[in-house]
Amino acid sequence: MITDAEGVAGVCRQDQTEPKDTEMRQLLTGEINAAVDGFLSGGADEVVVWDGHDGSQTLSALTIHPKAKLLMGAMGPGMTMERGYVAVAFVGQHGRANSRGGVMAHSYSSLGIQKMLMNGKPVGEIETRTALAGWYGVPVILLSGDQAAASDLRAIVPAAEIAVVKEGLGYYACLSLSATAARDLIRERARAAMAKLGNIPPYKIDGPVTIEVEYSTRHTPAPDAAGLAPGSEMVDARTIRYRGKDFMEAWVRSRRF
Ligand SMILES: [Zn+2]
Repeated sequence: MITDAEGVAGVCRQDQTEPKDTEMRQLLTGEINAAVDGFLSGGADEVVVWDGHDGSQTLSALTIHPKAKLLMGAMGPGMTMERGYVAVAFVGQHGRANSRGGVMAHSYSSLGIQKMLMNGKPVGEIETRTALAGWYGVPVILLSGDQAAASDLRAIVPAAEIAVVKEGLGYYACLSLSATAARDLIRERARAAMAKLGNIPPYKIDGPVTIEVEYSTRHTPAPDAAGLAPGSEMVDARTIRYRGKDFMEAWVRSRRF
């Protein structure tokens, strides 16, 4: 389970995304634990939860579901997918940068990255991580988050189960479910997702892949930045294009952000 904070019910302001914010931690942990409950009641043997928000310092082994395992810290490019998971889920997910009506929508870094394109299409964490899972042959079966995050996944994995816990009314404005309603919805959708295992295909991108990252003004790369990495080129002063013979090669090359 890939977790984040900006797509959690009741989280709508920047100050709430501080990893040590007590209320956000409770809201996020509650949604994660509801998903774990749903997966276990749907037949999962093991649920591994990655603390994916801002530096992996939000979740605690004290409050995570007693039957889940907590994955902490920065992950390598494969995000431990080589361990052979059956499925991947997103909880607390936000839409990609520049999503219309996306609550705190961004792609990896709201301060560092203006925009990302994969094979010419705008993408964020959802598309790239779903493609990463797909590269390992693993499907994404569940997403909870705001309406914008739901649209991002639905466009590439229409069969995935989706729990929309809030509607974005602006970058810092939303209409949210209560924590209780969000948890109930997520638990139910997680269980339903387990029943669909085998019917949700992995999202595989065939052939060569380009990942283009437009950095923000304050993170303008050095003029020769692309020259240092193979398969990369400067598109303009703030944009680097990373090429690979397949998704994984482009992905690994682009991981300088
Ligand atoms: Zn994020």
